[in-house]
Amino acid sequence: MKSGIKFLLWLAALIVAIGLALALPINGYLMNLLMQASTYAIAVLGMTIVLGYAGQINIAQAAFFGIGAYGVAIGTTTLGMAFFVSLLLGAVVALLFGIVLGGSTLKLGGHYLAMVTISFQEILTLVLTNWIGVSHGPDGISNIPRPHLGFLALDQSQHYLALCLVFLFVIAGLVAWLKSSRLGLSMQAVRDNELAAGVAGIDTNRVKIIAFAACAFLGGLGGGLFAGAFRYISPDQFSFDDSVVLLTMALLGGVDAAIGAVIGTALLILLPEWLRFLKQFYLAVYGLAVILIMIFMPQGIFGYVTRLFGRAPDLPSGAVAPLTLGASVATDRPILEVDGLSKHFGGLRAVDEVDLVIESGSVHALIGPNGSGKTTTLNLLSGIYRPTAGRIRLGGREVAGLAPHLLASAGMGRTFQNIRLFHSLTAFENVLIGSFRAGSGSDAKSRRARALAALDFVGMAARAAVVVSSLPYGHQRLVEIARALAANPTLLLLDEPAAGLNLTEKQNLVALLRRLRGHGLTILLIEHDMDLVEQVSDRITVLNFGRRIADGTPDEVLRHPDVVAAYLGEVGEDVIA
Ligand code: ADP
Ligand code: MG
Repeated sequence: MKSGIKFLLWLAALIVAIGLALALPINGYLMNLLMQASTYAIAVLGMTIVLGYAGQINIAQAAFFGIGAYGVAIGTTTLGMAFFVSLLLGAVVALLFGIVLGGSTLKLGGHYLAMVTISFQEILTLVLTNWIGVSHGPDGISNIPRPHLGFLALDQSQHYLALCLVFLFVIAGLVAWLKSSRLGLSMQAVRDNELAAGVAGIDTNRVKIIAFAACAFLGGLGGGLFAGAFRYISPDQFSFDDSVVLLTMALLGGVDAAIGAVIGTALLILLPEWLRFLKQFYLAVYGLAVILIMIFMPQGIFGYVTRLFGRAPDLPSGAVAPLTLGASVATDRPILEVDGLSKHFGGLRAVDEVDLVIESGSVHALIGPNGSGKTTTLNLLSGIYRPTAGRIRLGGREVAGLAPHLLASAGMGRTFQNIRLFHSLTAFENVLIGSFRAGSGSDAKSRRARALAALDFVGMAARAAVVVSSLPYGHQRLVEIARALAANPTLLLLDEPAAGLNLTEKQNLVALLRRLRGHGLTILLIEHDMDLVEQVSDRITVLNFGRRIADGTPDEVLRHPDVVAAYLGEVGEDVIA
């Protein structure tokens, strides 16, 4: 759907919702449900960002909700501040805690992160219950005033509900828009494959912290509006159980879509009402209903619906431009100079004092038996590992030990031996993420054009709108190369690009490598297929047990006695010929 039409639909829905909120006679009980749903949904939208987009666990959203609620309660009553000032302040405090919690994701993942967020949640509950001087303890805070906003009488519930709906619609719109933005795609890249995201130029730490901060901010905002809605709050409303409810709402509706957050929230608040007639069995049926939805719709309700109807492709229109390659580097000196590069894993010298010089515009092969340190060398060059010792100069600049995204922006591009794509994104989105670090003309439109050009260069433009996990293996390899090309690298590192390809695909790969070389791109190629190596390489370096045992032209190297002995030993001369 065109974004203009989406915006009009959104605006129409907002107007209808506010019209209904103001015009319908809403009784007290229904009013409470609607206020709860609209303020909760804002917090659940935070979960959409952190869990849905960025793939990080947060089981403390009720704590952030509580911080925002107490911000409004304490701000307006004890401190006598204006409502909106208190609301903003509470949300900002939540955001600051979110940054701290997000910081812990950098060291921890998975279960450990879950435990940290649960602990944070428990600590907040303890503080709210026991810091009586500030929070009024278990009694909570009552008589929270609602805001005055010009001619609007927001102390009337229907007007206040309209205010909550405006907040909800604006935030839902922003969260939906975020998904296809540069930041949102970066989050999804981190979620799908953190290592590849770093190599594609994304500062993964920064992205994770931003996701947590945004999630916490929305939690705080929802909580602040909640406090104004009910005018009374107490610590038990922001407990671990409530965090689980917020998490369930996100998962139930569809965690990676803003609409999913709204559906999930509405459903989980309404379901108990619909099931009220079941009397004492209600909880069991409620639990069962949630479990069934989760089992049969693991992507959540909205995820299930989008699967049924498919997603409209979002591709640049018009003719595909030719791909420009060849970042500006001085060609009178080698592109890469590696001296004494070493990487030890405990006692194992995976890479042992390796020297390597790659001339500008050449295809340089790095070969050696399994386990000889080829991939480890690439991991050192692309910043995934820090060298134990040695220097790496790219275009004359010392880059050893830089983080992957910094090496990426210095011009290092790569693919992985085991393909690493952002599996839930389309081929186009994968390559678009690669284009984020391309230097020249870096506005959104030219990045999109560049992404399509890179896909076209590898012959995959026709599959641009396909989700990569459903592409055949050979095509996935090509998309991965296109993603690296989209960044316009100075040096392209390819780790066994022919592995798993059939004969035709290998021939296409040879042609592709030759075309890349024709465009002046410098390539470091790890490859097992000697035919392919001989066809495309200008120079070859051979590793064995982490050490460089030969280096030179294909003719020299492949007839070098050490290479024959070490690398091609048993099979002998006929392989070389
Ligand atoms: P190649 O790509 O040439 O087949 P690798 O570079 O993957 O070889 O591995 C070289 C050696 O380093 C192997 O013995 C491998 O087991 C070891 N190695 C690689 N990565 C690690 C790691 N993260 N921890 C410990 N040992 C490793
Ligand atoms: Mg390897």
